[in-house]
Parts: sequence; C-alpha cells; structure tokens
Amino acid sequence: MSTTVEEQKQQKAFGWAATDQSGTLSPFNFSRRENGDEDVTLKILYCGVCHSDLHVLKNEWGFTSYPVVPGHEIVGVATKVGKNVTNFKVGDRVGVGVFVGSCKTCECCQQDLENYCPQIIFTFNSYNPDGTKTYGGYSDMIVVDQRYVLRFPDNLPLDAGAPLLCAGITVYSSMKYYGMTEAGKHLGVAGLGGLGHVAVKIAKAFGLKVTVISSSPDKESEAINRLEADSFLLSSDPAKMKSAIGSMDYIIDTVSAAHPLLPLLSVLKVNGKLVTVGLPNKPLELPVFPLVFGRKLVGGSDVGGMKETQEMLDFCAKHNIAADIELIRMDEINTAMERLAKSDVRYRFVIDVGNSLSHQLMSLEANDQTTSGFTQVSLSQSNFELQRPYDKSPRERYSFNNGVHRLWVYSTDKPHTPTSHTEPRTEIRIRGYDYSSGVWQFEGEAYIPRGTTGATVMQIFGGSSRATTIMLQVYDGELAAYRRSERLLSNMYNRWFKVNVIHDVGASNVKVYIDGVLRYEGSGAGGHYHYFKFGVYAADGPSHRMESRWRGIRVLTKN
Ligand code: NAP
Ligand code: ZN
Repeated sequence: MSTTVEEQKQQKAFGWAATDQSGTLSPFNFSRRENGDEDVTLKILYCGVCHSDLHVLKNEWGFTSYPVVPGHEIVGVATKVGKNVTNFKVGDRVGVGVFVGSCKTCECCQQDLENYCPQIIFTFNSYNPDGTKTYGGYSDMIVVDQRYVLRFPDNLPLDAGAPLLCAGITVYSSMKYYGMTEAGKHLGVAGLGGLGHVAVKIAKAFGLKVTVISSSPDKESEAINRLEADSFLLSSDPAKMKSAIGSMDYIIDTVSAAHPLLPLLSVLKVNGKLVTVGLPNKPLELPVFPLVFGRKLVGGSDVGGMKETQEMLDFCAKHNIAADIELIRMDEINTAMERLAKSDVRYRFVIDVGNSLSHQLMSLEANDQTTSGFTQVSLSQSNFELQRPYDKSPRERYSFNNGVHRLWVYSTDKPHTPTSHTEPRTEIRIRGYDYSSGVWQFEGEAYIPRGTTGATVMQIFGGSSRATTIMLQVYDGELAAYRRSERLLSNMYNRWFKVNVIHDVGASNVKVYIDGVLRYEGSGAGGHYHYFKFGVYAADGPSHRMESRWRGIRVLTKN
C-alpha cells in the first residue's frame, strides 16, 4: 500500500480497549490516520462481538499486542471518501470485516482471496505498513482502504446484519468452497453460537437438511423451532450420537474450545467432509482410522475474500438472513464477554456503538463539569454507617468486595430499629458530613439488578416540608425522582450508571446528573440538617427482594 502524505496525519479516535491479559475493556483514546485518497471513513454504528475478539483479548492464541481494541463485524455510515474512491459516497451504508489490508499483488489477492494473502492486515491486533497498529470496531470511527469496504444492502438490518461480516462469511465461504451446498444433503453444525446459528440459516437457504450438534441441552427447542434446524443432537449423549453414526454428508465445526473429533467423524457418511472453522487455542487430535476407512476429508477455512463477502451479503439480503442478536451498550461489554465465554448468548452480542459510545464520551467530558470547583472530602469505611433490619447482622444484608458496596433488603424485613414504624431498609448513611449550608455533592456509580422495584436507592435526608430533600427511586427499570414524578433514566437494570446529586442549600436547588447528563433540577425542601444515604429502602409496591450496588462513592463540597 502506498502511504500518502495525508495518511501520515493522525486524527483522534475513541474506543474501548483491553490493556492486559485480564481482557477487561475500558475507555481508550487513540489515533487513526486521516482519510487518504483511497480511503473511506466510517462512523461506526454497530459492531458484532465474535469469539475471536475474546480469544485475542485473553491472549489465548499467544500473539496479542496490548492495548487491543477488538471488533471486526463493523457496520456504519460513510462520512468521508477519498478522491480516488469510486464505489462509495458519503452517507452510504457500509461494512468492514476481519481484514483491512493485503498486498494486492500476490496470487491470492489476484484471485479475490485476500483473506489468504501472506501480508494480510487484520482489522485489529495487526500493523499497518507505516508501523501503526490497527484498532477494531469497538470505537467511534475507522478509516479503511476502499478495497476492504463492503456495500451493506438496504434491506439488511444494520444491527442484526453486522455479524454476517465475520460469522456469515466464514460459514458461507467454507460451505461454498468444500461443495457443501447441494440441496437435500445432510449438514451437521457443531457448536450453536454466533457462527453456528448463521450456518443453520444459510444451510436452510441452500436447501440442506440440518442437524445441530451441541453441548447445550437448553438450545434444543430454539434450534428446532426458531432456527428451523431439522434435528438436534446433544454431543454429551452417547446413545444419541451412536444412533446418528454414518448419517451426515458434511459437518461444519464451529466449536471454540478443544473437543474430540472422533464423535464428529463417526456421524459422517463414507466420503463425508468435516470442515473446521473454530479456532481453539489447543491442537485437536485427529483420529485417522475413521478417515482412512471412510475416505473422509478434514479441512479448514478462514473467512472469505472481499468479492465473496459482498456476494454473501447480497445472498443474505435476498433470503432475509441476519443474526439473532442481543443488542448491548458499550459499557455492558465486559459482562457480555463473561457470558460469551460460557456459551451463554442467543446468539450474537452486537454493540450499539452509535448510541452508547458517544454517550460514554459525552459523560466522560461532562464529568468534569459536575465536579469542577468542588473539593472532595476524605471518606473511609468509618464514614459509612450501615442501617439494616434490626434483627439482622450486617453480613446478612450487606457486603463490600472489590470496592463494591452491595446492599439488599426484603419487603418482609423489620425496620432498622425495634421502635421505628418505617419501611424496611438497608442503607448506608454517610456520617461526618452532615450539613446545613453551602453546596454539597454526592457522586457514585450505581447498579440495580433486574427484579428490584419500588425502592429508594439514594436520598438526601432532611427538609422542612417533607423528611427528605430528594429521593431517587426505582420503578420497573426506570429511575425516578419521587414516585415516578420525574423520570431520569429508563432501561437501567443490570448496568452501571453514574449518579451526581448536587444540593445548593442557600439557593434551595437540587440537580441530578446521570452519566454526566443533567436529568433533574428542582427546588430544595428547606430544613437545616442534611446528609446523604444510599442503598435500598422500600417505597411504593416494593419487590420482595430489593438490591442496589454502589462503587466510587465521593462527597464533594464548595462554599
Ligand atoms: P461462540 O458464539 O462462542 O460459539 C461457539 C460455540 O461452541 C458455543 O456456543 C458452544 O456451542 C460451543 N462450545 C464452546 N465451548 C465448548 C466446549 N468446551 N465444548 C463443546 N462445545 C463448546 O463463538 P463464535 O463467535 O461462533 O466462534 C466460534 C469459533 O470460530 C471461535 O473459535 C472463533 O475464534 C472461530 N472463528 C473462526 C473464523 C474463521 O474464519 N475460521 C471466523 C470467526 C470465528 P453449544 O452450546 O451449542 O455447544
Ligand atoms: Zn470473527
């Protein structure tokens, strides 16, 4: 690739990266080259989460170069095109898959098999010819040579279509190359994850009979009813596996971990083909007897070239094939990775980059706005006074691990003192900073598990017209100020969000920021005696169990 003067100029980019083998992702600022004459710049809207991302994050293949921004199922809109770009214009729906460069001159590149070019440049964890690193699609934008950009068909959904850019082409290309597309033939799909479930759909479109071979019994009814597979084999059930011996023409093996090949080779017919696309970090053992005595073939296949990837997208658009996805926010990625490692995804996570990453960026910037001019007071565990049902020990309602306070209570619990007539609560009352004047700020990150409803999770105690200055309450996934009167945040279960509450006593003003954005402003409730509390306190229509988790608690003040 030629390096033009423009390409050497850098521009700011923002994404999420892992910096070590823990694989934990967090916000990351980096740079990308300016759009060159041959380049297309994409504003990234969606990015699928491939198991390869996870292998690389954890350095399971042994060649991860940190920091790494994963993501190679990228869909977005073209925001810039270079002067030599002919196929794309600003505003087009476009996609980028597993690689963003190749030599363009070798035999592979000339045969539209850039994916096998010895100088392939992967979308992340790879190096550009100028020595800079490649960073993937868990980010706001990407600059890519036009040869490696795809037209994204109009009738393919941007979110559910994203996984086709790796999962889709991988199974499509292997089936095409190995001649596994003949209608009426019987295909086994081993591993029902991201690749596997797309393989089922594409195979059905080719008219094949499909059997899913899975280690997860709970995927059986979905495989048959939703994905329309013809049958399901539980790989751990020897009797079922035995009954399938010699029944399949082909198998596509998408399993991501080491596993025995013998059971798979056994279910193939004579002349059967097993194509492995999964990339476990350990070598698989190859039993040769069933190969030799059944003239069977074992092969491998790696994504597909640009031309074939475009063909696959058009094929999927024509047959209405897209992935079954769980759409997540960028800040849910670490939990998603834990679930992916346990094969607990139906069937591909896709990150809503366009809506959740810019938001994150905004909140990082906005964060300074809420706290600038304030001084942080010192807090230690001794400033945290636990209020809990009086007949329970602290550890029956509270834990503090890895910096996270977890507080829970039951609607049937007793009040916090034997004489109180208030509702049950497990709350931390911040001691030592009771105030009657000045401007005070509470800051913390909260996490409310799904199921908790009808609970106050944070409050400023003290008022003259009522007992509190503000209460933040949770009702059915919404965060509200006082009994649903002001809705601050929806869809707030099972994710961390940042809370900043500012109380200006003199001006009688209260502001609530969520993720750095002002969501509520109201007047104070008077009174000359205030302090902050957080946890769970039963409000209207409480669930049986209520819980909130808190981390990064700070108290700030200015006078
Ligand atoms: P995925 O969504 O995690 O699916 C993998 C599936 O393998 C799981 O859902 C599970 O299916 C099965 N599995 C996992 N661990 C297992 C174990 N210990 N024993 C038996 N079965 C197990 O992953 P993916 O994104 O589809 O990727 C699959 C593999 O293909 C990964 O290794 C990935 O790196 C590789 N890959 C290769 C290419 C290529 O071009 N060749 C492209 C993309 C990805 P069940 O629950 O049904 O058993
Ligand atoms: Zn992939």
